Amino acid sequence: MSAPEELGHAQGTTDILLARAASFAARRRVAGGGSARPASPATGVAIVACMDARINLEAIFGLAEGDAHILRNAGGVVTEDIERSLAVSQHALGTTEIILIHHTRCGMETLTDDGFRASLAERTGVRPTWRLQSFTSAAEDVWRSVTALRSSPFLRASASVRGFVYDVETGELDEITESPQSAASAPTQATA
Ligand SMILES: [Zn+2]
Repeated sequence: MSAPEELGHAQGTTDILLARAASFAARRRVAGGGSARPASPATGVAIVACMDARINLEAIFGLAEGDAHILRNAGGVVTEDIERSLAVSQHALGTTEIILIHHTRCGMETLTDDGFRASLAERTGVRPTWRLQSFTSAAEDVWRSVTALRSSPFLRASASVRGFVYDVETGELDEITESPQSAASAPTQATA
């Protein structure tokens, strides 16, 4: 088996990662981490983010084991399952704040619902029943998602919900505090 440094796309990478995991468990044991932390996140925060491999949430927010719930999917979009997980996070495990993150150069901005589903059906012979939930503007979709979470009947009305676009080049977060569309439109124009 190749050394851990030789991570690639060949089959067998999982075995390399498993060797790292065994070493992690040994180091954790030595460091006194032999017992589990409380299941309720220490920060009271749940993060919803795109699965993009360039977004290192633990590093960005300085999070350690036990600190936060991290929910990720393609796009960081609010699906029924994200809402389900956030309901558990808030009502069973006590979180009170949500941070939602999309990012620059997201692949979801380059795919279309119909196009991706058609190409998947062509490749696999099965047409997916789920929607891709792609979007054309990360900022607009962040705002739409923040608004949806704030009005979800299953989430605490008092919970904080804030949304951001992460820049994969600079590592900076840009908070979206209003609809990008209304911000860009003429002052006299009514909000859509
Ligand atoms: Zn993405």
